[in-house]
Amino acid sequence: MSLDGVYDEGNVFALILAGKIPSVTLYEDADTLCFLDIQPQSKGHALVISKWSKARNILEIEDDALAQVMATTRKVATAIRAALDPDGLHIAQFNGAAAGQTVFHLHVHIVPRWAGQAPGFAAHAQGQFADADALKALAQEIRAHL
Ligand code: 5GP
Repeated sequence: MSLDGVYDEGNVFALILAGKIPSVTLYEDADTLCFLDIQPQSKGHALVISKWSKARNILEIEDDALAQVMATTRKVATAIRAALDPDGLHIAQFNGAAAGQTVFHLHVHIVPRWAGQAPGFAAHAQGQFADADALKALAQEIRAHL
């Protein structure tokens, strides 16, 4: 998928927003949703999306949707810091397959980082799927700080 294209209503984040596949929510408001990544790069890896924008990437997103997504990113990153005490917070956003994007509904990654941990993103195909119950317990821990 290149930078150019048409929004696919069947992409996995659209299905999460439609309630057609499950996710573990950390936070939501009228405009944004934040949930835990199913193949986390580290403990607490979260994704933030717009509920209404059909932007595939940063070149397409409306200014207000971007502002809403970034406000939620900071809010949840603050709670993740309080809950998990990471040494750093990696905020990442990929545009186009060549840049590592695999889901074409704009999203921002929040990846807590600890000293000594490699800061790169592992290929998703090699990533471990998180245990569903462990994700739910972790979400409760983080939500307590929102
Ligand atoms: P991208 O590479 O597009 O920036 O990141 C997409 C992210 O979505 C990846 O980190 C991947 O693990 C995550 N992801 C893909 N499918 C699902 C899913 O069904 N549920 C959740 N929670 N995360 C997903």
